Amino acid sequence: MIELSHVNKTYPNGTRALYDVSLNVDKGEFVFIVGASGAGKSTLLKLITCEERPDCGNLTVNGHDLMHIKRKEVPYLRRTLGMVFQDFRLISKMTVFENVAFAMHIVGASRREIKKRVPYILGLVDLQGKAKCYPAELSGGEQQRVGLARALVNNPDMIIADEPTGNIDPALSFEIVDLLSEINLRGTTVLMVTHEHSLVKQFHRRIVEIQEGRIVADSKELEAAAQ
Ligand code: ADP
Ligand code: ADP
Repeated sequence: MIELSHVNKTYPNGTRALYDVSLNVDKGEFVFIVGASGAGKSTLLKLITCEERPDCGNLTVNGHDLMHIKRKEVPYLRRTLGMVFQDFRLISKMTVFENVAFAMHIVGASRREIKKRVPYILGLVDLQGKAKCYPAELSGGEQQRVGLARALVNNPDMIIADEPTGNIDPALSFEIVDLLSEINLRGTTVLMVTHEHSLVKQFHRRIVEIQEGRIVADSKELEAAAQ
């Protein structure tokens, strides 16, 4: 799914955001990426989604070689990824149904497919009763569930969530990660960036810690070493 080896990333202003980062994520894994602000977590996600390019090393995501990917191939990479954002990024003039439907519309789904699929996905995130609401009429937790529904609706191989609980009450944050866990159990790989240690501790999942641009701990390696 994700193979990063010996990747460095320097921004044009000279800031070195990642140093010699190597990381493999297999199909079906759930990985928390943790670390302080400025550690390089968002940069890592941006490399995976091809918003930024590595300086050197190797990087393959869902079968796409991101060291050599052509611009016109990037949308095909992105279709294999469902993205969830801290600030939700819902369209305020569209209802819940329309926000989710729009994601299907842009990849060319038919009206029939949309009519069938959107209610099913809203059911998965327990929002069937809110289909006609606008984002401003929802709580933060509900808005993020719409964000999750939109990320899932085109059946991606992997969900990439950047601080998805950063704007949500702690009690509702648990619900969001719980939903991500359920989605993961159905086979979708999940990569979630967070700096909320208390939340991570409640879920027994792989934890990769980044400090000052380097991976300093990976719970999977600890487990492998213990065997
Ligand atoms: P995190 O997501 O862990 O907070 P980031 O990946 O956003 O960390 O940032 C890592 C480092 O790269 C920081 O020093 C940050 O200031 C720097 N950085 C992030 N984006 C840019 C950019 N577009 N240009 C220059 N420096 C950047
Ligand atoms: P939270 O616990 O996240 O603070 P809120 O108090 O914002 O939740 O919302 C609680 C419930 O009230 C939610 O189901 C939400 O859909 C509904 N609600 C919140 N604001 C509005 C609004 N402006 N119009 C209609 N319903 C709303």
